[in-house]
Amino acid sequence: MKLHEYQSKRFFAKYGIPIPKGRVAANAEEAKHIAQELGDRVVIKAQVLVGGRGKAGGIRLAKSPEEAEELAAQILSMKIKELPVRKVLIDEAASIDKEIYLGITNDRSARKPVMMASSAGGVEIEDVARDAPEKIVKVYIDPLLGLRDYQARDIAAGIDLPRDHWRIFGQIANGLWQAYRESDATLAEINPLVITSEDQLLAVDGKMVLDDNALFRHPDLAEMRDLDVEDPSEIEARKYGLVFIKLDGDIGCMVNGAGLAMTTMDIIKLFGGSPANFLDIGGGASAEKVTAALRIILTDPNVKTVLFNIFGGITRGDEVARGILAAMNEVQTRMPMVIRLVGTNAEEGRQILSDADMITAETLTDAAKKAIAVTKGDYVQ
Ligand code: GDP
Ligand code: MN
Repeated sequence: MKLHEYQSKRFFAKYGIPIPKGRVAANAEEAKHIAQELGDRVVIKAQVLVGGRGKAGGIRLAKSPEEAEELAAQILSMKIKELPVRKVLIDEAASIDKEIYLGITNDRSARKPVMMASSAGGVEIEDVARDAPEKIVKVYIDPLLGLRDYQARDIAAGIDLPRDHWRIFGQIANGLWQAYRESDATLAEINPLVITSEDQLLAVDGKMVLDDNALFRHPDLAEMRDLDVEDPSEIEARKYGLVFIKLDGDIGCMVNGAGLAMTTMDIIKLFGGSPANFLDIGGGASAEKVTAALRIILTDPNVKTVLFNIFGGITRGDEVARGILAAMNEVQTRMPMVIRLVGTNAEEGRQILSDADMITAETLTDAAKKAIAVTKGDYVQ
């Protein structure tokens, strides 16, 4: 789950990171009031969950409350990378001398969080990594020891930060680490962290990505989720405890177990097909879950076939088969289905399904090939 800039910066502020004064507005009039309150030059910033807002015209400076009102109206009518702008942040404008990048993410191969910094801030870090990788300084953080003071100093030295800023930079780096650790984030980023013309460090932009699987530990953060920007089918899936990720292929996948779901997608690809989704309906395959999952899969207009890959362990194959039939009956669809069923009572299950005129398969290879053939329109019984 991604947090908006204003949410990220407010969260950072709790950890002692300096941020500009400001508030969010949902309309131009509010924006004008906030600009009046702030009194000085302000910056109007589109709150959408994508990078590069600046380039897209979603960040503008205003010299008066009237100009703030006008620019806010403009920005609120924009779409940035397909996302409608519903809120703008009005911040006191900073006069910027220098832009720095500072961020933390997980380095999976090092199995540790890594803090990265660069004197080439403002631009996206992926671009710096490609064009000038020598400008990125990295330190790995031992999760048990936390970020050490000397590591923060190493970073400050590595990006040639003037020495009089080192102490406050150390506090910001440590605050960012604490914010990252305590929220179970997978990314916490300040880009840019600026040196103002008054020689202060200030976090002008903020971005956080939280680990969805740890959100249950952070109800206050989970509440900030912006449903406007999520795929409706993914929101629906979450309601039923299904793990669903929409993809752009044409074979819908109904699978119990995350590993099995990944394998199913790989096999479809291997034989030249393209999965329409990742879906883990969890253990067993109750009629209720299968029904909910089937509805979600069928809302995708690209889907031409649904491939079931169900491993019956504790749940017996014949029960699964009856569950599938009940679900189809309820959803009322003519979508072709290919079903691979293995495990306890699999044979009985397959019999029930083929009696109901469904395409069944014994092996995953067989199932994938049949699903691809059906999708291409050249399946022969
Ligand atoms: P992003 O484009 O989505 O990453 O949004 P940012 O908040 O990082 O803003 C992009 C750029 O706009 C920054 O790198 C700055 O150069 C500029 N900018 C943002 N806020 C201010 C501000 O308060 N004053 C000035 N002068 N420039 C700003
Ligand atoms: Mn930025």
